[in-house]
Amino acid sequence: MQMDFDVVIVGLGPTGGTLANLLAINNLSILILEKEASLYDLPRAVHFDDEVMRVFQTIGISDSLSKKLIINKGTKFLDENGKLLLDWPRPKIITENGWYPSYRFHQPDLERSLRYKLKKFDKVVSLQNCEVFKTVNKKNFTEVHYKNTKINKINSVKSKYIIGCDGANSFIRNEMKTELENLGFEQRWAVIDLILKTKNVNLPDRTIQYCNAKRPATYCRNVGRRRRWEIALKDNESSITFFDEKRLWKFLSKWVSPNEVEIERKTVYTFQSAIAKSWREGRMFLVGDAAHLTPPFMGQGMCAGIRDASNLAWKISICCKKGHSENLLNSYQSERSSNVRDYINTAMKMGELLNSIGGSKVSDTVFVQPDGTIKMNTIKPQLGKGLGECEDINRGKIFPSFKSDFGRDIDNIFACDPILITNKKINKKELRIKSYDCSDIPGMEVILKKFKTNTLIIRPDRFILASTQKNDLLKFTNTCLNEIYSL
Ligand SMILES: Cc1cc2nc3c(=O)[nH]c(=O)nc-3n(C[C@H](O)[C@H](O)[C@H](O)COP(=O)(O)OP(=O)(O)OC[C@H]3O[C@@H](n4cnc5c(N)ncnc54)[C@H](O)[C@@H]3O)c2cc1C
Repeated sequence: MQMDFDVVIVGLGPTGGTLANLLAINNLSILILEKEASLYDLPRAVHFDDEVMRVFQTIGISDSLSKKLIINKGTKFLDENGKLLLDWPRPKIITENGWYPSYRFHQPDLERSLRYKLKKFDKVVSLQNCEVFKTVNKKNFTEVHYKNTKINKINSVKSKYIIGCDGANSFIRNEMKTELENLGFEQRWAVIDLILKTKNVNLPDRTIQYCNAKRPATYCRNVGRRRRWEIALKDNESSITFFDEKRLWKFLSKWVSPNEVEIERKTVYTFQSAIAKSWREGRMFLVGDAAHLTPPFMGQGMCAGIRDASNLAWKISICCKKGHSENLLNSYQSERSSNVRDYINTAMKMGELLNSIGGSKVSDTVFVQPDGTIKMNTIKPQLGKGLGECEDINRGKIFPSFKSDFGRDIDNIFACDPILITNKKINKKELRIKSYDCSDIPGMEVILKKFKTNTLIIRPDRFILASTQKNDLLKFTNTCLNEIYSL
């Protein structure tokens, strides 16, 4: 059957933009349908991490983006009297992903970079003012119907897959008839974005979580002169009452005055925790907020969506090029959902601490320092069960970003398909996989030693699929690749 596109992406927020770029690198033909006329020019997400920055590196926007970021120093949780309850530092050390652990950014800068990058791909068509209102999900194809609201015209296209990156109120999720599982957190928060009028305002250079049963609040040190306060609203408290000029400035007066800052915007969000029961129905998928919602206390909502995109992009690309594989596509939700659930659960516990109803044990990585302060290490949840043998101790570990002795960044040799690296002599023609031995990439020996193995297969999303100490690499690769390509 003649397809108009390989993939239709619904929604061009940060996850849709990332996914589209990753699929475009894999040379797929893509139609992006976005209902708004232009990008949303105000910030929502303000933080992302090293793993996400590595995805941006793959897309080729990390260098330009770096100029607009600041390195995030961490978060402190204080009680009503200003006593430190929990410290979550983000040390300025390059991680295994080749970047700093945590960054502050301005969401419109990111979305602009993603959109700009998409323009260089001939096989990407990106349409704005186009709202999807109907889908068809058949065994061998999908169909999407949309309305161009600017010219009031209806159109439809056929594609191999439809991916819903259409946010919290996802239309695609409704079409898939999948329910959201409510994980239990729901609270209305006022979000106030401010711009400093002068440089000399004395404000913390870290995120501060003000834990308070009556009025929990968060202060964010954002990029440039941008600062944010997020403040929990009381039950039945209306935004009109809360945003009353006098009351608002009274609240903010603990930190700033109208002489020092201007309010860029003030709005109310309902922070929720929920996860879609099914992320895939046949040829339709959910990515990002369409698949899961988290309170933003860890700054991980968008990050989780970018991780979804990175996980799904190479799997969809293989299916478009080599044929639809149920096994491969089913591994998307099974690998991603437990990972995102761990982040949501930890964010909910942070929410309890902020509301002063939980203890400081927000995760298993919390420990008491010799000086009595309580510290938390960053959590790095594993991929759920999906591809690869779970008994393999290296399965699902991140393959480190690494510069070979030739000065080549190993990330640049990753293509769309998995690769094999080994310290053994190999017959590259015999193996069905792109392979490198240690003479191709000097310095690789050290990495293999770190994983206590002779051979690794690495997925395009930089996770390790499998490792072996055995010599029969033909059998090893065949087993791994059959799992991926099994139809
Ligand atoms: C106050 C706040 C602070 C946050 N802070 C952080 C943070 O620091 N770090 C972090 O990682 N995350 C954070 N988040 C979460 C983050 O903002 C979201 O997870 C992220 O924006 C979701 O991106 P998305 O692309 O999945 O969805 P969205 O950004 O919602 O994009 C969905 C797109 O789909 C389009 N669309 C919807 N329906 C249709 C349709 N039928 N047809 C065509 N187009 C459609 C919409 O117009 C929209 O452009 C925060 C959220 C809030 C509210």
